[in-house]
Amino acid sequence: MAVSRSARLAAAPSKGRAARIPQSREPAGKSVLEREKKHDEIYEKIYAAVLEHRLQPGTKLAEERLAAIFQVSRARIREVLARLAHEQIVELYPQRGAYVAKPTIEQALDVFEARRLIEPAVVRRLISVLQPQHVERLRQHQALEEDARRRNDKRAIVRLSGEFHTLLASLAGNSALTRSMRELCTLTCLIIFLYDMPTATSCRADEHMKLVDCIARRDAERAEKLMVEHLNHIEASLDLSASDGDADLESIFAA
Ligand SMILES: [Zn+2]
Repeated sequence: MAVSRSARLAAAPSKGRAARIPQSREPAGKSVLEREKKHDEIYEKIYAAVLEHRLQPGTKLAEERLAAIFQVSRARIREVLARLAHEQIVELYPQRGAYVAKPTIEQALDVFEARRLIEPAVVRRLISVLQPQHVERLRQHQALEEDARRRNDKRAIVRLSGEFHTLLASLAGNSALTRSMRELCTLTCLIIFLYDMPTATSCRADEHMKLVDCIARRDAERAEKLMVEHLNHIEASLDLSASDGDADLESIFAA
């Protein structure tokens, strides 16, 4: 196992000048801006992997391996992991390291409660500042979602579904709401992965379409209602009823 891992890492193509710099030290001569850019790049890559379900809840994020993969120091990886932990996407344990978060049923219910409070306000705000280019941008996103569905690209479907909601917040023009939505959407992706029922879909495509139509008509009241219904549908497609860690072993193993 260890041999194949190091072989894989050694075989990974090294990119650019950073590859020649010893990993134990910070790359010398790099401007603060370049360092920030690299930091954001690693953050975005891990974030996208969580959104696309390539990184599953509970996966260990070993600093050393990530440092080798991204050709940066372990200190840099620690910074990225701390940022992801701050956003509840990663959980940090002393001595054991970082893991992709594994939201409990209680946390999942909290996420949906928060979304039901925030997202009607997001659509109301968006409609109050709506410009034609906002509708255009939403239609473009819808086209991407439709394309992913046509190709049956499940990873892209989950990611784009989540991004639709963050896009609404970002177009509404409130940066604090956008940050909160980004975090809540990522947690929702983890929750869908953990509690999805076999028949479930993440966001229903027709519901996003109806929402965009409603926003384009500037019908705030109806848009708010549609958003709450949409969130209820997502929550209802998940199995959040199981008792947390307290299984009825007798009935499970009953002959
Ligand atoms: Zn949705």
